[in-house]
Amino acid sequence: MKKIQQLFQSEDGNIQQRENFLSLLEKIVSSLDALKNPNKTSLGPMKERSSNFYQELMQDNQIANTGVGLDQVVEELTQLMQGHPYHTRNFVTNVLPMASIPGILGQFTNALLNGNNLWDVYGPAAAECEVKVVAMMSKLVGYDYTKSFGYTTWGGQGAVFSGLRLAIAKQFPQAKEEGIPNNLYCFASENAHYSLLKSIEAVGIGSKHLVRVKAGKDHSMDINDLQARMTEVIENGGIPVYVVATTGATDQFAIDDVQAIKEVTIGLEKKYALQPIHIHADSALGGFYAFFNDYDFTANPLQLEAEVLQGLRHIRTRMQHLAIADSLCFDFQKLGQTPYLTSLFLIKEGNSLQLLDIEDFDTPYVGNRGYGSYHTGYTLECSRMGSSIAIYAALQAFGKEGYQQILANYVRVNLAFRTQLAEHAPMLQVVNGTNIGPVTAFRLYPDGYNWHTEQAGCYTQDQIEYINAINASFFEIIGQDRDEVFFGDTTRFCTVRTSDTKQQIPVAAAKFFAISPYTETEHIHAMVHFLKQKLQVLEDAKVEYNK
Ligand SMILES: *Cc1c(COP(=O)(O)O)cnc(C)c1O
Repeated sequence: MKKIQQLFQSEDGNIQQRENFLSLLEKIVSSLDALKNPNKTSLGPMKERSSNFYQELMQDNQIANTGVGLDQVVEELTQLMQGHPYHTRNFVTNVLPMASIPGILGQFTNALLNGNNLWDVYGPAAAECEVKVVAMMSKLVGYDYTKSFGYTTWGGQGAVFSGLRLAIAKQFPQAKEEGIPNNLYCFASENAHYSLLKSIEAVGIGSKHLVRVKAGKDHSMDINDLQARMTEVIENGGIPVYVVATTGATDQFAIDDVQAIKEVTIGLEKKYALQPIHIHADSALGGFYAFFNDYDFTANPLQLEAEVLQGLRHIRTRMQHLAIADSLCFDFQKLGQTPYLTSLFLIKEGNSLQLLDIEDFDTPYVGNRGYGSYHTGYTLECSRMGSSIAIYAALQAFGKEGYQQILANYVRVNLAFRTQLAEHAPMLQVVNGTNIGPVTAFRLYPDGYNWHTEQAGCYTQDQIEYINAINASFFEIIGQDRDEVFFGDTTRFCTVRTSDTKQQIPVAAAKFFAISPYTETEHIHAMVHFLKQKLQVLEDAKVEYNK
């Protein structure tokens, strides 16, 4: 047993075991450092994967009879780092952040304690942090913290799902026992994250009852279309239960107008004598911009540049209404700068969670005792990791100002990227110009074509598909050298009308997603230059092809 015990942290805090442990950690961190190169987006050369790569992994791996030393385990772990993407200045592919040190320290503390966030008797640190961060974020968005509540859960997707569970339970408290009625409907923008689609499938509403509301010119939900689609559903005997307002869409950073959505639902509730319809603000990504809700734009204590301020003001016009939503979400593993998985689900009326809770009878070994009062029987998870510890640590270290600085920088570098793109590569046109935030989507147009005309629905289906095909080739070319600059892309940035068919056609676009704390305006020039070089490669390939 002595040898096995050496695989654990010490029981008594002895120095020798601690030093062994720390030297292994030191080895991991220094091996990582040895692979770093700020001009690359991967740790050492990217790995090439043969077509049967995963198959070979399955064939080659079995559990050894005798375990190996920890040195060798660490060696294997550092092997895993080789070729891994890394969040340097040129890592602009998607919302895949670097984990900050406070976030890692929180996660690490959580791992050392290994409490279970199911119950405060088993995980008091996580229970306390959870209550603290729920209150902190409630105050930030303008929820009444004496009424609101929440918990950490499995992603922004988990929050969308939990919101839906609540939405159903509020209108149909018996549904837990009896199942759901077959005429429930949910609504979201066509630009919403697919979380809602999965949730609707999973709760048994059926994906045909997901109504995708048109997006307007600024890519946010078209409120008139919402009104029309909801009315149509109600008049046909359907019951609207859930509206998801995407407040910061993943590809466009479009922000749905929660206030206007609420006006629509209230109006319909009155007119048709309906029960209140739950609104979930899917703020997983964008909600962090609520850090500017109480920023003094006049005194401007952070001395932000005028155009950055203007962008942030624009975001605030929408984010200031987040508190109107019945529930919302903060994916701290996105703009909150913590490791996976640290998503926080917040509910305006916390006591509605009772509708989801299970009876003491069903949870016999945990729950309310004299010595434990915090038991999360309403979550879908049973055991839960204490992710709130990482969140708490990050909130402590960054403070409001720290978040304001990093969030403002995303806007700053996006503005710089847009300006330089227009100047040096005008055939790459920004397609989310009405939205500012961490992301810029851009699309390659051949001579004579442009986004403005395409968005207005003036191109034929063939023309749009032709432009999409050119963009697909371009994505391949920029993707080949992604270890230099790692751009993102999407095959359906939005959809547009055609001039000759009734179809809405998806529009493909490349993405610049500023997410690394190391991406600064001075690095933008090299990225635009990279794009220009790749345009030339595409051009040469075309000439070659046409010969
Ligand atoms: C990322 C994202 C999600 C999904 O969140 P996960 O944490 O990946 O589950 C949902 N909605 C929006 C708007 C997102 O940006």
